Amino acid sequence: MLKMGELVLKGLNRARFERSLLDNTARRLRPLGPFALEARQSTVMVAPQRDDADMDAAFAACAEVFGVAALTRAAEAAKEMDAVTRTALAYLDAPLRRVRSFKVEARRADKRFPLTSPEIARAVGGALHSAHPGLTVNVEAPELLVMVEIRDTAAYIHAGARPGAGGLPLGVGGKAVCLLSGGIDSPVAVYMTARRGVMPVLVHFYSYPYTSPEARDKVITLARLLAERCGASPALCLVPFTAVQEAIRRHCPEAYGTLILRRAMMAAAERVARRAGAAGLVTGESLGQVASQTLESLGVTGAGLTLPVLRPLIGLDKEEIVVKARRIGTYDVSVLPFEDCCTVFTPRHPKTKPRLPDVLAAEAAFPREELVEAALAQAEWRRPADEEKGPA
Ligand code: ATP
Ligand code: MG
Repeated sequence: MLKMGELVLKGLNRARFERSLLDNTARRLRPLGPFALEARQSTVMVAPQRDDADMDAAFAACAEVFGVAALTRAAEAAKEMDAVTRTALAYLDAPLRRVRSFKVEARRADKRFPLTSPEIARAVGGALHSAHPGLTVNVEAPELLVMVEIRDTAAYIHAGARPGAGGLPLGVGGKAVCLLSGGIDSPVAVYMTARRGVMPVLVHFYSYPYTSPEARDKVITLARLLAERCGASPALCLVPFTAVQEAIRRHCPEAYGTLILRRAMMAAAERVARRAGAAGLVTGESLGQVASQTLESLGVTGAGLTLPVLRPLIGLDKEEIVVKARRIGTYDVSVLPFEDCCTVFTPRHPKTKPRLPDVLAAEAAFPREELVEAALAQAEWRRPADEEKGPA
C-alpha cells in the first residue's frame, strides 16, 4: 500500500498525478515480474500476480518512487470479521513475537461494513491478545501499531508504515535543464529537482584536452546513477567547451574568468532548455560556498537570462549536501579525482563581489553568442541509462 502524499490535495490535477504515480511505479516494478496496480482512496495498491514474487525487492522499489509519502506491506482479507481476524493472526504472528506491547486501530472507509471502527479494533485486538497473552495493550505508545482498514473491495491488515521517497510524481512538473558537473553538489540538485516532479534534462560542459576523458565518463556514470535513483532515463547533453574557455582566457581579464565562463554555461543551458522544451535551469550552487557563489556572483551569473534559475542547495552546508549525496549514492563517484572545466584556468584572485557593469565590460571582447552556438552544434545527446554499461 503506497500512501500518496501532497498529490491528493492537487484538485483537478489529481487524476493526472495519480496516472503518473501509477506509471512510474509500474516502470520500477516491471523488472521484478507481474504486479497489478490500482489507485484507490489516496492509496496505490500494489498486488503481486505470482506467489513467488520478490516482495522485498518490490517494496524497496516502491520506496524510491517520488510521490509516495509512506508505504507499508499488508495482508488482504475478505470483508468479514472471521477472515479479518484469521488473517491478522497469521500475518502478525512473527512481528508480535518481537515486541512487548501493541495496539490495534481500525479505519472503516466502507461505511456499510456492519461493525464500527472501535468494534473492529476491539475484536481484532482481543483475538491477537488471546494468541499472545504475554503482550500488553498500550494505547499511548505501542511498540507495534496494527492497522485494520476496511476498504471498498477488501480488508487490509498492516503494521508499521515507513516513509517513502516523498515529493511529487516525476514528470508532472515539466522539464528543467540541470547543469551537471562531476562534483558532489550538482547530482544532489538533480535529485532534488526530480523529486519535486520535474524531469531533468542533463547538460555537461567539458574541455578536452584540459579535462580528461575520465572526467566525462564520470559524468556519464553519475547520469546513470541518477537515472536509477529517479526511476527515469534523463537525456544527457555533452557540450565541448574548450573553444569557449580558450576565448575567455584570450579576451577577458583573469579575475573575471570563472564568472564569465559560468555566464557562458548558463547561456548555453538556456538554449538547450528552449530546444528541449524545459521551463527552467537548475544548478548545484550553494550560497557562499566559493567565490563564484556569493550573492553578488550569483546575481552576475544569472543576469540576462529569461528562464528562472533554481538552486535547490542554496541554503545547505557542504556537510548536509554530502549526507544527501551519500544517501542517493552519487558521493563515491563524485569524489573520484578528475578535474572539472570550472577548475581549468581558475583565477588566482577571483572576484567575490563582482559588479555587473564591470563583468559586462570584461566580457565585451568575448564573442559569446557565436562560440556558444558553435559548441552546441557539436553537442552530443545520450541516454546513459539506456546504454550498455562499458567496462568499469
Ligand atoms: P559541483 O559539486 O556540483 O561541481 P561546485 O561546488 O564544485 O559544484 P562549481 O564548480 O562552481 O561548484 O559549479 C557550480 C555549479 O555549476 C554546479 O553545481 C553545476 O550545476 C554547474 N557546473 C559546474 N561545472 C559544470 C560543468 N562542467 N558542466 C555543467 N555544469 C557545471
Ligand atoms: Mg564543481
